[in-house]
Amino acid sequence: MSLPEFRLTAASATLPAADQKPLRRLHMITWGCQMNVYDSGKMADVLAPLGYGPADGPADADMVILNTCHIRERATDKVFSELGRLRVIKEARAADGKQTILAVAGCVAQAEGAFITERAPYVDIVLGPQTYHRLPEMVARAHRAAGPVIETDFPVEQKFDFLPETAPSQDRAVTAFLTIQEGCDKFCSFCVVPYTRGAEASRPAAAVIAEARHLVSLGAREITLLGQNVNAYHGAGADGRDWGLARLAYALADIPGLDRIRYTTSHPSDMDDALIAAHAEIPALMPFLHLPVQSGSDRILAAMNRRHTADAYRRLIDKLRTTRPDMAFSSDFIIGHPGETTADFDATLQLIRDVGFAQAYSFKYSPRPGTPAAGAPGMVAEAEKDRRLSELQILVREQQDDFNARTVGLEIPVLVTGPGRHAGQIGGRSPYLQAVHMDGPISLAGQIVPVKVDSLMTNSLSATLLNASPRQERASA
Ligand code: SAM
Ligand code: SF4
Repeated sequence: MSLPEFRLTAASATLPAADQKPLRRLHMITWGCQMNVYDSGKMADVLAPLGYGPADGPADADMVILNTCHIRERATDKVFSELGRLRVIKEARAADGKQTILAVAGCVAQAEGAFITERAPYVDIVLGPQTYHRLPEMVARAHRAAGPVIETDFPVEQKFDFLPETAPSQDRAVTAFLTIQEGCDKFCSFCVVPYTRGAEASRPAAAVIAEARHLVSLGAREITLLGQNVNAYHGAGADGRDWGLARLAYALADIPGLDRIRYTTSHPSDMDDALIAAHAEIPALMPFLHLPVQSGSDRILAAMNRRHTADAYRRLIDKLRTTRPDMAFSSDFIIGHPGETTADFDATLQLIRDVGFAQAYSFKYSPRPGTPAAGAPGMVAEAEKDRRLSELQILVREQQDDFNARTVGLEIPVLVTGPGRHAGQIGGRSPYLQAVHMDGPISLAGQIVPVKVDSLMTNSLSATLLNASPRQERASA
C-alpha cells in the first residue's frame, strides 16, 4: 500500500459556497499526507477574502496552487512534469488575455526554493509550509509582476497565529483534520521532514481547542489531530504549563458534539504513560492507532536513529492492548534501508507476525538528498527491495483481511459520513477506520449509528443498519 495521494479541486477544499460567485477562481492540486490536505484548506481560507472561489479546473483558474510532497522518490521530477502541463494552460490563457498565477507550495517548494523558478520561470510563487499566512501579500506581489516571489524561511512567529478560521460556508465535513504540531526534531536517517518542515513546534492548547470547537460548530463529529510527530505535542496550556497530547485529548473530549478523536502520526518513543492511560479513560479516543515502527531489526532501527528497539515496540503494543483490549494498530515499514540484510528483513516479518496489524503502509527505501542514509554504505539492490516489499505486503494484506474478517457478524458503531456507493446507500467509518457501506437515509449523515457487519468487500465492509435512531458512543452534553 502506498501513501494516499489527494487531488483536490478548490471546490473540495474550504472555499466559499457555490452560490457566491467568486471574483477570482482558484484550483488547488494537493499531493501527500493529511497535513497537506489541511494546509490546502487553510490556503483556500486565506485567499477567500481576496475573492478567490472554486474553479472547475486549471483552465478556468486565475490561480493554481500545486501543494507538493517530498517524502518519496522523484518528487521533484513529478512537480516539474505537472508544472509543464500547467505551463501550457497558463500560456493558452495568456493568449486570451487572462493572467494565471502559478504557485508551488509544500515540501518540494521548501526543499528546492529558487531552483523551481530557475528551471520553470513561468512559476510566480514558491512558498514553504510555514509561510501560508503570507499568501495574500505574495499574490499582490505576483500581480505587480516584479519577478518570482520565493518565501521559504521559517519565521519565528507561528503561521497558525495568522491563519483564519475555517470559512463557515464550507461543506460541513463530518470528519475534519486539525494540525496541532509541525516539524520534527528526531532526524531519522532516511527522512526529509526535519529539513523541509523545520524544528518541532506545537500550537497553544487554547488555539487547538478553539479550532476544534469551531469545526464541531460546522458539523464535525470526528477530528483527526495532525502532526509529523503528533504525540511529541507540548503546547502551552491554559494553566501556564506545557500540555502533552494526553492532557489536550482530555480537554478536547469535553467539547459537546465531538464524539471521535484520532491523532496521527505518532513516534513509538513519544507514547508516554499518560497518553496510554488516556486510551482507557477517554471513550472518544478511537481504538485505532497508526504507530510506525519502520523495521523489526534492532541493527536497522539503530541505523535509522529510531531511538527504540523492536522489543520495546512489542512491549509498547502489549501495554496499549492491556490498557484498551480492542485497540488495533497500523504501521509504516521501510524496506531496504542501507545495510538491511535478509536477516534484518526476516526480523521485520517476525515483528509483523508478533504484533498482528490491522493495516500497514510499506515503502521501498528511497534516498532523500541531504539525509544521512542517502550517503550510507550498503544500498540494497532495487530487485531485492522489490522482492522483500512484495513478501511483506502479502503478509500485511493477510493480516488486514483477517482483521476485517473478524468484524463480520459484529455490531459496531459507525459514523455516517455521506452517501454510499450506490443509490439508497450511505457510507461511514468504523472505530477502526474501516469504510462501511449500508442501506439507509442520507439524513443520518453526521450521526453515529449501530450496524451489523454482514460481509467483506475488497476495501470496505458491507453492513445492515440496526435501527434508525442514532446511538452515541458516549454521552455528549
Ligand atoms: N513521523 C512518522 C514516524 O516517525 O514514523 C513518519 C512520517 S513520514 C512523513 C511518513 C512515512 O514515510 C514514514 O513513516 C516512512 O515509512 C516513509 N518514508 C519517509 N522517508 C522515506 C524514505 N526516504 N524512503 C522510503 N520511505 C520513507
Ligand atoms: Fe521523519 Fe517521523 Fe523520523 Fe520525524 S520521527 S524524522 S517525521 S520519520
